[in-house]
Amino acid sequence: MNKQYQTIILGGGLSGLTVAHKLQLNNPGHRFCILESSGHTGGVIRTNHDQGYVTEVGPHGFLDNCQESKQILAETGLDRECVKAPLIDFVRYVYLNGKLNLIPQTPGKILRAPLIPWSAKLRVLAELWQPVLEGEPTVAKWINHRFGPALLPFLDAVYTGTYAGDFNKLTIDSVMPGVRALEKKHGSVLRGLFARMRQKKRQGGGDRKAKISMPAMTSFPSGMQRLPERLSESLTVGENLQLNTKVTSVQADDSGWQVMTNQGLFHAQNVVFALPINAALKILGQIDPALPEKSIPETWISTVVFGFENDVILPPGFGYLTPEREQRFTLGSLFSSNMFPGRAPQGHIVFETLVGGRRHPERLELDDKTLTRKAFEDVQKILQLTKAPAYTTVLRSGGGIPQLERNYPLLLAWREKFLSAHPGLQIVGFGWEGIGLNDMMKCASRAAERVLSSSANMQHGADLKGVYF
Ligand SMILES: Cc1cc2nc3c(=O)[nH]c(=O)nc-3n(C[C@H](O)[C@H](O)[C@H](O)COP(=O)(O)OP(=O)(O)OC[C@H]3O[C@@H](n4cnc5c(N)ncnc54)[C@H](O)[C@@H]3O)c2cc1C
Repeated sequence: MNKQYQTIILGGGLSGLTVAHKLQLNNPGHRFCILESSGHTGGVIRTNHDQGYVTEVGPHGFLDNCQESKQILAETGLDRECVKAPLIDFVRYVYLNGKLNLIPQTPGKILRAPLIPWSAKLRVLAELWQPVLEGEPTVAKWINHRFGPALLPFLDAVYTGTYAGDFNKLTIDSVMPGVRALEKKHGSVLRGLFARMRQKKRQGGGDRKAKISMPAMTSFPSGMQRLPERLSESLTVGENLQLNTKVTSVQADDSGWQVMTNQGLFHAQNVVFALPINAALKILGQIDPALPEKSIPETWISTVVFGFENDVILPPGFGYLTPEREQRFTLGSLFSSNMFPGRAPQGHIVFETLVGGRRHPERLELDDKTLTRKAFEDVQKILQLTKAPAYTTVLRSGGGIPQLERNYPLLLAWREKFLSAHPGLQIVGFGWEGIGLNDMMKCASRAAERVLSSSANMQHGADLKGVYF
């Protein structure tokens, strides 16, 4: 076998598949190969089909507000297949003060809601005059300093829902670089947002009548696994996709780069790291011992699935999250049957409850039976269920969710320097520049662009992301 390629992609999860898709689409003659350590593509994306229930071991969906993801759906025809649950129609709840509270969908509406007292609302406005916190504050410390304590449980819920993280450990510079940049530039986030609005208006984008648009959660009728499956359709195992091929090191050689694996040596001019951040750091540390961090913290979650006959009525909407101060056993639940059709067999409904996360890894040590019992006791109270479930199962994801905590910006700065010193290398994947599916598709699309243009590493500024519950 000729193991010489123009580009080798390390990892066949969504990031690696996106790079491959873009290379094939934009330059069909480009010789590339994906090296994947497991026996399948898709990485942590996996849908469980059991007794008519369609549930997710990994991600449940992604918002349709990312240009690169929308483009991939259009290019693959998946835009005609996907199912959407618009946030504007699907309300969410935060479990606070012992009950489910409906959360208005935008920060502005949250402020106007009766859930927050007037004194706390005024404190939020005082953000305009708060000095900029130096250093690398945690999300909790930063929110408390800028907006006061009233918003803390809501932001706790947001970071539980996205990172399964602890907002007393995640840092604002790592998880919201765009907002932090705005704060530093204007001395206040609110002032920065007003300045952006004024600028948009000046540029003619300030149509007062324009409806505030909210994104939609996107999945597929057969579940999220459809996305990597579709992206894998154009690959040939043994040719441009090598399965069961674990990369152990990467070194410079005469032709560019040499990649060592348990299946032998591979050579290429370009190597794209599309591995989860800690797997990448292990290999990158061999190329540059000056790596500032050998690994970053990760956290795991498990899903307990509950199916009921459909005389059990779920509250309308997406689901709920539980901030830590409520001391619940579960992190929250997704009302899967409400969100997407066909998730439960005829005459049944299903919801998926999350357990574990950064604060409670010990709960994942419980066996399935105990985990299910404890999770059910918890949701029974929260959702006031009077019946036992008709179906339960526990789904344990092997994929650790990278936690963007202290020193993470240092790692990104190292990456920038490292990449300019090592042309031919690209670094994307789970935990680099974010953790969500949209982040992966965006970064991987840009990496493929850079490979094809062979330009030095084009820099993109930090995006200003919306906060959705
Ligand atoms: C439980 C869970 C729930 C999530 N929920 C959501 C959600 O609802 N919405 C959302 O947007 N995001 C969610 N995410 C995040 C999302 O799943 C990830 O952003 C995305 O799937 C990461 O894709 P990736 O290809 O970068 O990494 P991975 O999926 O981890 O793929 C990396 C691949 O590299 C392979 N590999 C590792 N080491 C080597 C090696 N040495 N040699 C060769 N191959 C190797 C692995 O086998 C794997 O196939 C969730 C993640 C988890 C774990």
